[in-house]
Amino acid sequence: MPPELVAAIEAIAALPGIGRRSAMRIAFDLVRQGPLRVKNFTTALTDLSEHIATCSRCGAYVSRTHEREQCSYCDGVRRSHDTLCIVEQSADIYAVENTGEHHGLYHVLGGVLSPLDGVGPDELKIPQLVERVRTLAIKEAIVATNPSVEGNATGHYIADQLKPLGVRVTRIATGLALGQMLDYAETQAISQSLRQRVEL
Ligand SMILES: [Zn+2]
Repeated sequence: MPPELVAAIEAIAALPGIGRRSAMRIAFDLVRQGPLRVKNFTTALTDLSEHIATCSRCGAYVSRTHEREQCSYCDGVRRSHDTLCIVEQSADIYAVENTGEHHGLYHVLGGVLSPLDGVGPDELKIPQLVERVRTLAIKEAIVATNPSVEGNATGHYIADQLKPLGVRVTRIATGLALGQMLDYAETQAISQSLRQRVEL
């Protein structure tokens, strides 16, 4: 096999959820479809690495070419500015957004508290969260971290920080890892979980 094909198969197989068999099929398919198709594919990937940034306020993904510094959630006139949904990663926003249940703002932590790995509040965007809640007059903060030990502990830590500010802090009802939930059935589950949130 030509080294270029081997290299392409290895790069594709390194993507999450793609085994070697699928990687070979994709690589052969790209070669068969010709240079234009491959060019479209590589342009999309280059744009992804060069033009995607995160919102300076909430951490949502923004396009450097089409948006300003703030994202459409922070800037959106139709978003309610008194509820804030707290997620671990930028991608989790889409899982919540797909449900249509949350019309407020977001805040991306960038991970969860993990003292053994040296991840404390200052390594996450928790000081920024407290500051935003204080200045934005948030009435309810919805914690949507993953249902891991660290995710739950992070939720309780956040509740301890925000409740003295007079904010209602809730947690999505059932244990769902948002980043893995992007299809229709899973969106229904998140939707229900948001509606049945519990007080922290
Ligand atoms: Zn934003």
